[in-house]
Amino acid sequence: MLPHNSGEPAQVRRIVFAMWGVWRFFFLAMGLVAAAEWSQSGLALPAAKKWDVLLAKSDADSIIKEAFSSSTVYERLAYLTDTFGPRLSGSTALESALDWTKAQIEKDGIKVYEEPVKIPSWVRGREYATLLSPRTKNIRIAGLGGSISTPNGKPLVAKAFVITSFQDLDKSNHQVKGRIVVFNVEFEDYSKTVEYREYAAARAEKYGAVAALVRSVAPYGLQTVHTGVMNEAGIPAAAITLEDAKMFDRMQKRGQDVVIELYMEAHTLPDRLSRNLILEIPGSEKPEELVVIGGHMDSWDIADGAMDDGGGAFVSWEALRLIHVLGLKPKRTMRAVLFVNEENGSKGAIAYAKEHQHEANLTSMAIESDVGTFTPFGISITCSKAAKAILTDLGQHLLSGIGSGNVSGTEYGEDVSYLFDQGVPSGSLQVLDFRVGNHENNPCRGYGDGVSGGTDSLKSAYFWYHHTEADTIDKLDPEQLQHCAATMAVWTYSVANLDSLLPR
Ligand SMILES: [Zn+2]
Repeated sequence: MLPHNSGEPAQVRRIVFAMWGVWRFFFLAMGLVAAAEWSQSGLALPAAKKWDVLLAKSDADSIIKEAFSSSTVYERLAYLTDTFGPRLSGSTALESALDWTKAQIEKDGIKVYEEPVKIPSWVRGREYATLLSPRTKNIRIAGLGGSISTPNGKPLVAKAFVITSFQDLDKSNHQVKGRIVVFNVEFEDYSKTVEYREYAAARAEKYGAVAALVRSVAPYGLQTVHTGVMNEAGIPAAAITLEDAKMFDRMQKRGQDVVIELYMEAHTLPDRLSRNLILEIPGSEKPEELVVIGGHMDSWDIADGAMDDGGGAFVSWEALRLIHVLGLKPKRTMRAVLFVNEENGSKGAIAYAKEHQHEANLTSMAIESDVGTFTPFGISITCSKAAKAILTDLGQHLLSGIGSGNVSGTEYGEDVSYLFDQGVPSGSLQVLDFRVGNHENNPCRGYGDGVSGGTDSLKSAYFWYHHTEADTIDKLDPEQLQHCAATMAVWTYSVANLDSLLPR
């Protein structure tokens, strides 16, 4: 169904582009005639001017064809994740990955520059947990980002106390002192359940707990542990598997004493200097005006970060590469930001928003990809009604052929949220959950949107792998990455070419 490698020789492509100057006028004339016919037909004129859309259509088709003709983005992402592996903020691997990525972008001939960002440096060190009673068992753990070590760099041994919610904790507060509190919290949806990962340690510490073990924030488990950031606390905290959390719960209900030995070396080093990578296709008419896309380069230290979020960063880069290879000249500047430190501080996003504050009114739209790079079906965006009408129109005309022209929802991601705060219409690429394939009613939305977020993230396979060792390149599909890149490129390019900025 999707266009595949056309096998079109580069020579032919070059000739076609050499003739583009002439063709453009032809298309413009055709566009104007079609627009006139359209308005005579009695149909309401769409929100975006018809000739804008018609002109963009041939370019959009070229972008889509080019995107599906090469697996560059997949190969580059596989190289990144295989070669540099996990890219936690503060790690040498992240810096090496940034160096390599920047060098490749330069080889592409795309303008790229760095902007310095001071980022935190949390180090896991060695860690283990052992169940000592009622039987001996190694307990898989993943210390939570920002956690401290067990006291004095020594293992601690304590009886566990299992609770299932914060209310449960408050009710049983007299039983918590001196215990390792196990949070066996049922996954509801990511945005809700993640609060336990963030605040479990601080809340348990208040009642005198010595450590917190949090059931991994995921809808499903195969003995996988999901790390993630936690809020500052004076006791150590780690994630455990769904299976172990449920087992501890059963043991406690039977009246069995659950005794655990926990050892963690986690600590925080001084901040380190890193950088955001910024790629640009300069605008041909209004270079000071922008359309921004992006994803983040950092990942958790146990994850190769293929889906979170190497894929998002690399489809943003690929989107610009497609425009560059085709020699298209957007009116406004198309910019891709490869952010650092989304996972444990958002310092890259904060630094970018601060550095580019003066451009907030000149930025037409900001879209990020950070919920997986599976089959895209559109974008979600928070913007004015008028802007949404224009985007809907562009999507219908330019992307419905590949199924990714939908505009729905209001979500936007963490990295563009600081631009949203400055008034920039901001959004997120939306993708279908790859577990359910092309099931149209199963979008994988990372964060609940209050309408369908709960069930979506419950069904989402994205959260099976999120922040685990299993977030590896084999979970991604080359064609789906190409599809995401095509979608990002068409949307960015067509918005960059509108007569004016999207109405606020
Ligand atoms: Zn992410």
